[in-house]
Amino acid sequence: CGIVGYIGQNDSKDVLLNGLEKLEYRGYDSAGIAVLNNNGVQLTKVKGRIATLREKVDQTVYATMGIGHTRWATHGIPSEDNAHPHQSTSGRFTLVHNGVIENYIDLKKEYLQDVNFVSETDTEVIVQLLEKLYEQYNDTAEAFRQAMNLLKGSYAIAMIDAEDSDTLYVAKNKSPLLVGLGDGFNVVASDAMATLRETDQYLEIYDQEIVLVNRNFVEVQKLNGKVVDRKPYTAQIDA
Ligand code: GLU
Repeated sequence: CGIVGYIGQNDSKDVLLNGLEKLEYRGYDSAGIAVLNNNGVQLTKVKGRIATLREKVDQTVYATMGIGHTRWATHGIPSEDNAHPHQSTSGRFTLVHNGVIENYIDLKKEYLQDVNFVSETDTEVIVQLLEKLYEQYNDTAEAFRQAMNLLKGSYAIAMIDAEDSDTLYVAKNKSPLLVGLGDGFNVVASDAMATLRETDQYLEIYDQEIVLVNRNFVEVQKLNGKVVDRKPYTAQIDA
């Protein structure tokens, strides 16, 4: 299981699909990508391998940002409905997640009694919670931060807000996650292997950190919103 994300000047599909192929060794019962352009979020999911996903992706769609996931099911059988990315009921928020949310049943009971879930995953709880918190805070970064503060367990998350074509919302706790820095683009991935074709400059992300990833800058924050300064390192592995 693993996640990948891209925000830049060029089309995102190849970066996402090539990246997911490099992550398949981490698990591959299902996979999906979501990209955002002027027509909104385009979601493609399959049960099976990245090769199957590649066949299903509409090659005529051009989008300069997107997220992808290869799944190794922990909650809910391998199926298209349970494959990531998952979306909130309104369709505004779309998210991929590697890890396990330990308190997802409690979160459902406390905040999401009235929500109709389409999957059996712990992951869908995160994106529905985000939508609830957005209704309260009217600010995506704040809602994202509040949501991350409520999660217990492991996560590497990348999220798209359909109303914001300039930011990937990213977070990490106890699941691997790196941010790769490019010239006019940035990437995120569970493993640098996934994105070494794009860049060898990486920011290490620590547990309980949030990253707002723009095309030209990256802001790392603690869960309390405090901004941290992080220097990139050069990845040494051969692509
Ligand atoms: N717990 C999530 C699920 O079952 C994510 C699993 C993964 O890391 O692939 O969908």
